[in-house]
Amino acid sequence: MKLQDLGYNDIHEVYRQSNNLNDFTIGRVIAEHKERYIVRTENKELDAEITGNLRFSATSREDFPAVGDWVALTVYEPEFCIIHKVFPRFSTISRQDIVHSSEIQIIATNVDYAFLVQSVDRDFNINRLERYLTICYSAKVKPIIVLTKTDLISSETLAEIKSTINQRIKSIPVIAISNATHEGVNELTQLIEKGKTYCILGSSGVGKSSLANNLMGENIMQTNTISTSTNKGRHVTTHRELIILDNGGILIDNPGMREVGVTNVGEGLGMTFDSIYEYAIKCKYRDCTHTNEKNCAVIQAVEDGLIDKNSYANYLKINKEKEFFESSVAERRKKDKEFGKMLKNYNKNKT
Ligand code: GDP
Ligand code: ZN
Repeated sequence: MKLQDLGYNDIHEVYRQSNNLNDFTIGRVIAEHKERYIVRTENKELDAEITGNLRFSATSREDFPAVGDWVALTVYEPEFCIIHKVFPRFSTISRQDIVHSSEIQIIATNVDYAFLVQSVDRDFNINRLERYLTICYSAKVKPIIVLTKTDLISSETLAEIKSTINQRIKSIPVIAISNATHEGVNELTQLIEKGKTYCILGSSGVGKSSLANNLMGENIMQTNTISTSTNKGRHVTTHRELIILDNGGILIDNPGMREVGVTNVGEGLGMTFDSIYEYAIKCKYRDCTHTNEKNCAVIQAVEDGLIDKNSYANYLKINKEKEFFESSVAERRKKDKEFGKMLKNYNKNKT
């Protein structure tokens, strides 16, 4: 296998050369479990840990490797290596840490495209689609909308759903498929480019696993589980979270993908709700919240029917979540700082 088959490109190569990483082996993280990693290199799969240096210089979870990362490593044993450096990421999908809600946990990196999955039966919800779109844009990942379970509705209903999407979400590919009859699956696989990395986002039950299975085809049985042990007594049994598809696309499919939420999505909001932002620059106050201000151009545009009312309501809701996340981050930083000060004083008084 070549590194290019794993998604390696010229930008990575330039980075490698300009950072004197020529003496290291290059690989991509394909699974992660509690600071233990599985890395795929040109030749094989290796268990991996990070250098002490990398651990001690890390200031947040984001400094640790994640699935999808390109890393420079040294192979110490036939099946074990140490990660020295994480290459810069061109995209990052993250979510709020479950344990420390003001922290960010990275789910996957260096993803080119996300399939935003919604099923067209009871589950279909355009607000939720905008939410995923926001997350996607913030992550710097290109969206492709995938509607599943088309076998459960009539073609008229499907046409209505497509037109609903069109009114609020422009110029993003929309592919309708059925995981049951496989209708449309071909159209989707034809979109997949060799050497590009994909992930699947969407709520529970919409057909993400079924879609992943359909994309992987027969690959799944042979490729999905990894079980390795090394002579240092390490044992890792885990699922590969990064899989190369038959058509050369690379699919990242991991458990964390299932629960992505709104974190620091400022930029993504602007791209998803671009029509709102167009009017927002005309608001009287620069910090206008577009909720109750006089001379708010956004409220005016909603009243004039220039901005979709439901889209506006959805924007306010997602923005609120974003602000809540940001304020909890700010609070944590403040607490950390206070604790640091306290510790410093304590040490000073001791000596
Ligand atoms: P996930 O939670 O998003 O991974 O969803 P799953 O792939 O597990 O699918 C949830 C349920 O929907 C399962 O019972 C699937 O068999 C069913 N399902 C998934 N895709 C389709 C589809 O295109 N058509 C129909 N009729 N059922 C589907
Ligand atoms: Zn305003």
